[in-house]
Amino acid sequence: MNRRQTFKLAAGAAAFAASGTIFGRGAALAQAADGPFKLPPLGYAYEALEPNIDSATMGFHHKNHHQAFVTNLNGLVGKWPDLAKKPAEEIFAAMSGVPEDVRTPVRNNLGGHWNHSFFWQIMAPGGAKAPAGDLKNAIDGAFGDVDKMKAAVKQAGLTRFGSGWAWLAVGKDKKLAIFNTPYQDTPHMDVGAKPVLGVDVWEHAYYLKHQYKRGDYIDAWWNTVNWDVAAANFKKATA
Ligand code: MN
Repeated sequence: MNRRQTFKLAAGAAAFAASGTIFGRGAALAQAADGPFKLPPLGYAYEALEPNIDSATMGFHHKNHHQAFVTNLNGLVGKWPDLAKKPAEEIFAAMSGVPEDVRTPVRNNLGGHWNHSFFWQIMAPGGAKAPAGDLKNAIDGAFGDVDKMKAAVKQAGLTRFGSGWAWLAVGKDKKLAIFNTPYQDTPHMDVGAKPVLGVDVWEHAYYLKHQYKRGDYIDAWWNTVNWDVAAANFKKATA
């Protein structure tokens, strides 16, 4: 399954396909004045995840926080043109190959762009409300049952000191694993994992509604997970 096919499974796929280059394969497209990186449309309304994720948080998160990564990436392309040509996952898998003078901003901004683009899809409205089939079997085998998996992801989110993400991902050994990453690091970096789902635990993801109660946010966030998208991610990661 290629990346384009994966997007077809997600809500808002037509909009993603139209943008064409959310992870930076911009070479074949007309270059807009603001650069090859684009903010991908959510594919659903900011209020679509209410009451689990509030409309105000979704709005700021998408059009301000995510947009900032996109804007920064377009600024970095002039310093390192490969940024707009290489698939993001290839860059993440070999961060030492990024020129040293742009390595940290590429890590932060390409990571942020990738993580948020992934996040908008995994929490999209619709789809299955619980895991099934191969993904359910793998979760049960690795963690006992779905509730134990959810508890472990929550714990990974709660124990990420400061800002970062908690992930359910497929490791290099093709087995499911739960871990967190700091800042905007993606699961591909360092450990070479491919995510099935992930939850943003930066304060901007929950503070307007939940203030300091990160655990309450994670509990509510589970209600937004689109398990059809998670299943597609799992299939791609284990292919
Ligand atoms: Mn965020």
